[in-house]
Amino acid sequence: MSLMNLTALELGKKIKSREVSVMEAVEEALVQSASKEPSVHAFVSLTPEYAKKRAAQVQKSIDDGTLTGPLAGVPVAIKDNMCTNGLKTTCSSKILENFYPAYTAQAVLNLERAGAIIIGKTNMDEFAMGSTTETSAFGVTKNPWNLDHVPGGSSGGSCAAVAASEVSFSLGSDTGGSIRQPSSFCGVTGIKPTYGTVSRYGLIAYGSSLDQIGPVAKDVSDCAAVLEAIASYDPKDSTSVRRDSYDFTAALTDDVKGMRIGIPKDYFGEGLDADVRDCILQAAQTLKDKGAILEEFDLSLVQYAIPAYYVIASAEASSNLARFDGVKYGYRTSDYTDLHNMYKKTRSEGFGPEVKRRIMLGSFVLSSGYYDAYYLKALRTKALIKQAFDKAFARFDLILAPAAPSTAPKLGDSLSDPLKMYLGDIYTISVNLAGLPGICIPCGLDKKGLPVGLQMIGNCFEEHKILQAAYAYEQSRPLFTCPMAEEGGLAQ
Ligand code: GLN
Repeated sequence: MSLMNLTALELGKKIKSREVSVMEAVEEALVQSASKEPSVHAFVSLTPEYAKKRAAQVQKSIDDGTLTGPLAGVPVAIKDNMCTNGLKTTCSSKILENFYPAYTAQAVLNLERAGAIIIGKTNMDEFAMGSTTETSAFGVTKNPWNLDHVPGGSSGGSCAAVAASEVSFSLGSDTGGSIRQPSSFCGVTGIKPTYGTVSRYGLIAYGSSLDQIGPVAKDVSDCAAVLEAIASYDPKDSTSVRRDSYDFTAALTDDVKGMRIGIPKDYFGEGLDADVRDCILQAAQTLKDKGAILEEFDLSLVQYAIPAYYVIASAEASSNLARFDGVKYGYRTSDYTDLHNMYKKTRSEGFGPEVKRRIMLGSFVLSSGYYDAYYLKALRTKALIKQAFDKAFARFDLILAPAAPSTAPKLGDSLSDPLKMYLGDIYTISVNLAGLPGICIPCGLDKKGLPVGLQMIGNCFEEHKILQAAYAYEQSRPLFTCPMAEEGGLAQ
């Protein structure tokens, strides 16, 4: 069995006990990637030299007792929208194809301080806009469960790399579901923390009021440990929150007795694939059998979440992406007449169609004649959605739902109809609009053998409740393994 089939915590333990050296772990991640990348293409770039250099340093710090944490020496893959000093960071866009940041994102820095070792940067939808990883300028990523299907998006590379056991864990980012939906499609576990928990400093912004970095891993314990490592109060991020406790692993107890779980009826209606529904309801039954109290309720406003999200996210994106103009970063057109023409040609050539669509939509809803009609209305809708969740959390400890209406679609099926693709975000985006934490954990397979993800949504700053329920569920969940990972590679 490959070392990359171990969870991050299991591998960390072996490194700590000197059963495995850090260099062996790094080399194994590179070997696994080399053998699986030709079919999966989870990475935009691999960083073997950097990884080996770091391996020697980290081993030294473990040996002299300065590094004692559970992730010391464990290889990690980082989504390519997080800045990494000296390592190419592209956001899977031509406009940043040669961008080498001069600093590292705070979340990544926290992880490196914990001793994790970056082995590469993962593929994603361009600027995190998409749900399939097909809008990347550097080719599509394939789903390790079935190479004819997409891995989901936008953190498709991060999720595929873990599912294929190229690496034990990775970091993704989630603006409207980009950790939870690809986790669902790839049969891995991912958590989107409460907004403000993980610093956005160095995360290339898509929708700043929605973006959060989070872990993607093989199980709930890894997710809790990684979240513990990356979360921090950061004065460099004006929306960072100083939390009372960053101890997420304390929540890992196999006990849901008396836990009140709400099931939003509106999430189980038309449009939900029957196989997905069955898997989710079966998981709900498992939690009930373990002593949780389940109750259906009306979340309301569900139909307004998609329009509100796409207005707000596009508005913020149009402003955030104004900085890519050929002057400061990355790509510049080779042939231009004057400054204005240079901006125009650089952006026309550098951005892909989905990004352009969002910039145009965002600029439109922010323009003076339409601001009130669209942007302001979307912000009001966002506030109402938050209120609906507040009401729900007065009654429930957590909400249980699907992460996506279907399992992974076939490659090429989604992009032809962007509106339909946007509808696939129905169960994830409200969570970002309300700033809540959400976890996605594998709960079964559909008839085609593709994974189904169970989403648990918590109230703000209540990660411990969703981690506890997810952990308890995991203990009773049947085992299933991604064919591309070696035996025993996924759910234990
Ligand atoms: N699919 C959604 C979008 O395209 C969410 C993406 C994300 O979370 N980054 O906006």
